[in-house]
Amino acid sequence: LNRDESFPNRKRIVLPPHGSVELVDYYGDDLGVVNAARVSFNKESKWEPGKVLNEKDKGLINYLFKNDHPSPIRHNGFTWRIKAPIFVVREIQKHVIATAMNEVSLRYSEAEEEFYVPDISNVRTQVGKPGAYSYQKLDENDAASGLAYLRESYDASWASYEKLLKLGWAKEQARMVLPVGVYSTIIFSGNANCALNFFALRSAPDAQREIQLYSQAMEDIFRMIMPETYSAWESNGRKKL
Ligand SMILES: Cc1cc2nc3c(=O)[nH]c(=O)nc-3n(C[C@H](O)[C@H](O)[C@H](O)COP(=O)(O)OP(=O)(O)OC[C@H]3O[C@@H](n4cnc5c(N)ncnc54)[C@H](O)[C@@H]3O)c2cc1C
Repeated sequence: LNRDESFPNRKRIVLPPHGSVELVDYYGDDLGVVNAARVSFNKESKWEPGKVLNEKDKGLINYLFKNDHPSPIRHNGFTWRIKAPIFVVREIQKHVIATAMNEVSLRYSEAEEEFYVPDISNVRTQVGKPGAYSYQKLDENDAASGLAYLRESYDASWASYEKLLKLGWAKEQARMVLPVGVYSTIIFSGNANCALNFFALRSAPDAQREIQLYSQAMEDIFRMIMPETYSAWESNGRKKL
């Protein structure tokens, strides 16, 4: 599969104000899923002209999802470069099984003055009881006042960070004053099973809105690489495998 042809303008999705999701590398495709399943019968399928699957092979992928048979979905790999606020990175980091993650080190490189500020329309208030919270848009005046406090707090943190560095503090200690709204960059890898499990949990309406946007961006890209696998997962209820 020629990567650049398959998603010419969509390889990197920007998530304002400073974030992004980029598929930097991958291997595997829908045919790989089919053939991992067909090896049970010592058989192998081929692409139809136009690099599409025939109806039987599409049906086979659907069968795998319908019958909780995920191992053929694991012979592939996706490597993402994700720039996100630290609180989103921490949520991504919880997905540990069969994944790999590396992160920019603030011991070795200085932080950048890039902080997550939600859009005013996305400032939420939490209502309800533990376990049954819902989120509603906060009144615009309270949202605007809070955004001013947020910026003030970011400015103060950044000023302290710079002062500590100027005093000669090591980066690994100066970073203590940085808030979880500062951006970090990670490389995050896993197979299609990991990706679909991640989407099942993190594109869901009960996930924090900020990580939902990252997950949905990753879904948009994933769908271009493995359209039949994605579509079978969707039509079988977007479940964790
Ligand atoms: C809406 C939401 C709210 C959350 N709130 C919190 C929170 O308040 N605090 C918090 O710490 N985390 C929280 N999490 C993170 C959550 O607990 C999981 O750690 C995270 O979603 C990763 O999911 P996972 O365990 O399926 O992924 P992975 O760790 O990648 O695991 C994949 C699968 O492997 C299996 N598995 C993994 N580990 C084990 C194990 N030790 N034993 C047996 N089977 C295993 C499970 O089937 C699991 O689904 C939240 C997640 C969501 C989606």
